[in-house]
Amino acid sequence: MNRTGIVRDERYIEHITDDYHPENPNRLRSIYGMLQGGDMEGFFTEIPPRFATREELEMVHIPSYIDLIASTAGQPARRLDPDTVASPKSYEAACLAVGGVLEAIDEAALQGNLNNAFALVRPPGHHAERNRAMGFCIFNNIAVGAKYAIQTHGLERVLIIDWDVHHGNGTQNTFYEASEVLYFSTHRYGFFYPGTGAPAEMGTGKGEGFTVNVPMLPGCGDAEYGNIFLHVLKPIALSYKPQLILVSAGFDTYYRDPLGGMKMTEKGYARLTNITMDIAQTTCGGKIIIALEGGYDLDGLATSVKAVLQELRGDSVIDIAECEGNERNGYGKVEGQLEKLKSYHKRYWE
Ligand SMILES: [Zn+2]
Repeated sequence: MNRTGIVRDERYIEHITDDYHPENPNRLRSIYGMLQGGDMEGFFTEIPPRFATREELEMVHIPSYIDLIASTAGQPARRLDPDTVASPKSYEAACLAVGGVLEAIDEAALQGNLNNAFALVRPPGHHAERNRAMGFCIFNNIAVGAKYAIQTHGLERVLIIDWDVHHGNGTQNTFYEASEVLYFSTHRYGFFYPGTGAPAEMGTGKGEGFTVNVPMLPGCGDAEYGNIFLHVLKPIALSYKPQLILVSAGFDTYYRDPLGGMKMTEKGYARLTNITMDIAQTTCGGKIIIALEGGYDLDGLATSVKAVLQELRGDSVIDIAECEGNERNGYGKVEGQLEKLKSYHKRYWE
């Protein structure tokens, strides 16, 4: 069994959008309720979050943008972009979301007290740009986490895996010219928010080759995602040899999600976690920190997070031989896409 940490805090629920907004407080109520189940409560180590400091936020965000978000504290709700709301306690929740990820990185990765951790936070982060909120995101939790690991702890290679159905434009842009972070994203592409993440976006300057975008067609499920992780992510990651793996985990690829249009199941998420753990075991002593991004089917969100947590803990809900069989059977559906991706990335990776 692994020692697995979780970050949870009622203050994340006080970032209020409204009940009709897909990214609403009920998402964490659903997950936190699941954590109180008999097979979950007590099996995980609590990692109390802290507020990210101004200096930590400035590793990714410009001062005037941080000032803008800080100025919303205690004020009537206002819109930061067409999809993103700041309520009176959103600034507090957003600082705590970043700080929760930083504490998870400290506890699970850098001090080695835990094997891995899942930060169950909101607001989510991967669309947030250095100078603006976007797509339900205020501060870029995972991007600040990667910068923190690099600047504060001297890491030189951090892998960010982003399996949310949307492309993590903010994360990609933060590290587009950097080789210290390899950004790997699977996302629905083609007339879909936010519109970035073409396979030809591969980084520039020192970062050339360190951005890997895998566009997915609607309707992809466990076998397709499994094959992409096995045949694109795994070889590249093993050659990059990350010292830490961060995951932007969105569950809006779930088959009942109202926004995603994909067909993933709980077992599929466990399998992606399993492949990621396999990579981490080989390259960085198993160190994985997962941060919650999207996922808007309330029941599916809780059951999917549960499957990932069980996998992290080493109490797997999947039969690997069965997954491999499904992946072999589904290989034909992604073969053409794999060939195309190889033609893009073969100049950088074996
Ligand atoms: Zn998403």
